[in-house]
Amino acid sequence: MSRALIIGAGGVAGVVVHKCCQNSEVFEEICIASRTVSKCDALKAQVEAKGYKTKVTTASVDADNTEEVIALINSYKPQIVINVALPYQDLTIMEACLATKVDYLDTANYEPKDTAKFEYSWQWAYRERFEKAGITAVLGCGFDPGVTGVFSAYALKHYFDEIHTLDILDANAGDHGYPFATNFNPEINIREITAPGSYFENGEFHETEALEIKRVYNFPEIGSKDMYLLHHEEMESLALNLPGIKKIRFFMTFSERYITHLRVLENVGMTSIEPINFEGQQIIPLQFLKAVLPDPASLGPRTKGKTNIGCIYTGIKDGKEVKYYVYNVCDHEECYREVGSQAISYTTGVPAMIGAMMVLTGKWKKAGVHNVEEFDPDPFMDKLNECGLPWKESFTPDMVE
Ligand code: NDP
Repeated sequence: MSRALIIGAGGVAGVVVHKCCQNSEVFEEICIASRTVSKCDALKAQVEAKGYKTKVTTASVDADNTEEVIALINSYKPQIVINVALPYQDLTIMEACLATKVDYLDTANYEPKDTAKFEYSWQWAYRERFEKAGITAVLGCGFDPGVTGVFSAYALKHYFDEIHTLDILDANAGDHGYPFATNFNPEINIREITAPGSYFENGEFHETEALEIKRVYNFPEIGSKDMYLLHHEEMESLALNLPGIKKIRFFMTFSERYITHLRVLENVGMTSIEPINFEGQQIIPLQFLKAVLPDPASLGPRTKGKTNIGCIYTGIKDGKEVKYYVYNVCDHEECYREVGSQAISYTTGVPAMIGAMMVLTGKWKKAGVHNVEEFDPDPFMDKLNECGLPWKESFTPDMVE
């Protein structure tokens, strides 16, 4: 009997819930928990209307409070906690998993609320305690981070003796019809994009200005797009876990309209996370901005077009140079028809479900705190094809300058 506790009831959680129910032979029971139990109940009603076999319950929890999470785990007794709340809750939930000896999985690395800085050090510091407790933590199991790490392990296992360069390309050619909206939590998304960029080269990270480096790439099934170099968390673990790697870059596409809105919001101070006094009340401009922007969960029915996220590798196999591109193309409207959400939540939620499935079925059961590229990629790659995120590969890709 497998029982999973899903913390969070937002866009990504909605997909995880649908996908767990579609795989009821593994996920026999799930509990959806967040601060707002009505959101959890709404998700439960959606999947129950579809008649899946998985038994769904809901609960209220403030995951900023470790004791509350411990109490919920003790009463529900799950085998795994799938954390699809926000990165701020990673450490409190990991503490609760340690206290109750339950496996853990998330999709984004810890960020303190008051500093726009994300890195693995805080979560990697739990390695020894998870090893000693005999429980598994899988970090960053969405698409990027997540599938990009699985793609990397797969490339290394099957096509390379050594990978020398990696470009991660994340393109969203979706159109939701709003002048400006973010596809996932606006606060997390804008913090990521307005932070300095960085790339890894010859053993160290080099920092750039935010959105300083721009390239144009002709994406399969999507066409030519402007993309910008960002700092992204999987570069940190891949720089350690890909032996011989010399260079890693991460690019994300943004339209000119999106960049213009973002620059204006930044210039007028709306993306700041420094509290200000407004009519006698302390407010954080970015949190206020989040409140006036469209809710990402509402974009599903309006978004048309596709995403293309993938990785281009160069390196050596049997003394010969090899190029390899592996990517997934996902259609916003198809995702909406299937699970009622757009492709950004879909491409994050499906891998989170598959990662949890890998742990529950023992394929990725390894005591300690791990990034996805540390596990066998093959069963995960098979599940991507079966569970809605089929991938394609090419050995003659266009290269990024
Ligand atoms: P949403 O904002 O839509 O949902 C977040 C959910 O977290 C809400 O349901 C909220 O519910 C819940 N939550 C927030 N604080 C708490 C708390 N203290 N206790 C319990 N629940 C809480 O975000 P998304 O679904 O878009 O994103 C979810 C996660 O996925 C984020 O961490 C994001 O960074 C990550 N992500 C990862 C990607 C990847 O490829 N790896 C890509 C996209 C997103 P309530 O208000 O009721 O508490």
